[in-house]
Amino acid sequence: MNAAPALDIIDAATPAPRRSRQARLAWGGQVLTLGGDAPVRVQSMTNTDTVDTVGTAIQVKELAQAGSELVRITVNTPEAAQAVPRIREQLDRMGILVPLVGDFHYNGHRLLTEFPAMAQALSKYRINPGNVGKGEKHDRQFAQMIEAAVRYDKVVRIGVNWGSLDQELLAALMDENAQRARPLDAKQVMYQALVQSALSSAEVARELGMNPDHLIISCKVSGVQDLISVYRALARRCDYALHLGLTEAGMGTKGTVASSTALGVLLQEGIGDTIRVSLTPQPGEARTQEVVVAMEILQSLGLRTFNPSVTACPGCGRTTSTTFQTLAKQIDDFLRAQMPVWKARYPGVETLRVAVMGCIVNGPGESKHADIGISLPGTGEAPAAPVFIDGEKALTLRGEGIAEEFHKIVESYIERRFGSATAAH
Ligand code: SF4
Repeated sequence: MNAAPALDIIDAATPAPRRSRQARLAWGGQVLTLGGDAPVRVQSMTNTDTVDTVGTAIQVKELAQAGSELVRITVNTPEAAQAVPRIREQLDRMGILVPLVGDFHYNGHRLLTEFPAMAQALSKYRINPGNVGKGEKHDRQFAQMIEAAVRYDKVVRIGVNWGSLDQELLAALMDENAQRARPLDAKQVMYQALVQSALSSAEVARELGMNPDHLIISCKVSGVQDLISVYRALARRCDYALHLGLTEAGMGTKGTVASSTALGVLLQEGIGDTIRVSLTPQPGEARTQEVVVAMEILQSLGLRTFNPSVTACPGCGRTTSTTFQTLAKQIDDFLRAQMPVWKARYPGVETLRVAVMGCIVNGPGESKHADIGISLPGTGEAPAAPVFIDGEKALTLRGEGIAEEFHKIVESYIERRFGSATAAH
């Protein structure tokens, strides 16, 4: 066999650095930074009626405990505005220190003026410039909201959405385009309208006294390629912190894949400071699923580490039993369920890598790459499951109780490696 040719260095792929300004959310003695060198933050939104103070506080708690670092709530009526301070108090009483973001459309100027306790209780306002009124009214009402943000020292997200794009701006750009010798296609004009709506609104906010560090921009669309195009254009034109999300991503696999694809491309390019995965929950599915997906996107890209990772092979004709699928799921569920307690007890446990493999082909190799791995017997293999710890074969499990024994081995490995006695050294 001929010797393989020498290779040049192969660059390891890493996300490009972000270059946005840093916003600082402060509330009740707490501080959360967004943008700049802060980690990319996970955001979510409730789907409860905000007037239902208890129901909303409970869902905010669930989202926060799942890992959401900001939670947005609808503020659409005077009753909802009155509920906001009570929700904040209830969360504080429960020890849930997550910042609340108010989502305003159409009447935000009135609510932020008439309900100062609500304006104060929120940590951030989301303003959609397409839903602030028309003409002179638009300017006055937008100014009222920005003035409230300046008065209460709040962060504002200028959140443009193509489903509610400023129609006057779009019509003006369409007219301008029609005058061109070579008109641009309609999609191009829409991209320009989205970016212009966001950036010109931010400019007006700055003229009204808004600290540019406290401005966050988003331009949400529902097409993957459209989102990538628009955010690349935004990132070239400004240094505001950017909130990413595919709007109306859809349900289940479709919504998860579309969001992961779009956000993955942009985050890899260093674009995006907060993210939300706008999944439509399937019947019976928890609202927290959108948080789980957002965290997985960031962890897959190596941008954040939230939970231990479980590597499992897909299975094939070499393994006809479902034992390894069951074990992989059990281990994954077990690790996730323990994490709220382990995070405090075992610092660094989220970096643990576990492998659960189906047969001898890739099982031992993949298990050796993990911190702790098990290679289950494939069809026709001897009924034995070698366990690898820190790259070395440590023992072999046999018989009915493999799953339970492996759980115990994982637990004692975590205690040994991440326990306080070890951490103290
Ligand atoms: S490790 Fe074995 S069972 Fe799993 S996919 Fe590879 S060959 Fe198939």
